[in-house]
Amino acid sequence: MLIGIAFALALGLAFFVVKPLLAAGTDEGTLPVDVTLQTDLKRRRLVVYDNIQDLEFEYQSRKIAAKDYEALRETYTTEAAHLITESHEVDRQSTEEAFIEREVAARRVGRKSEVVPDYTCPKCGFENPVPVKFCGECGAKLGPGTKLQ
Ligand SMILES: [Zn+2]
Repeated sequence: MLIGIAFALALGLAFFVVKPLLAAGTDEGTLPVDVTLQTDLKRRRLVVYDNIQDLEFEYQSRKIAAKDYEALRETYTTEAAHLITESHEVDRQSTEEAFIEREVAARRVGRKSEVVPDYTCPKCGFENPVPVKFCGECGAKLGPGTKLQ
């Protein structure tokens, strides 16, 4: 019973959290299809750089106190550094994934060549280069899985 209530609460909470996100997504309507984690990080980084520029401008024109300027600048640069680190991490992971995919593909090809049936003639030992039913050298019948003992 308690679990049921907790579940209902969690579901309700999830609904209220997700709903505005979905609404925001549909409102924009122009969300590019190819939004990857990397491009999203880049976009966020550009926003932070923009904020830093604005901040510099405000400080230069004395619209903001030195103390606030320092604090905000610290916040922005920390965030920028964090985004750059994250971006590098994403890069590293995708490089690793590409490497693993290549390795797996290579191994798959290797395994495939291993299971290719052997068309070596059991009678004369001729290695028939293509799948054949009879030996190209002596004409002996070759069955599937025929192997030289
Ligand atoms: Zn043969």
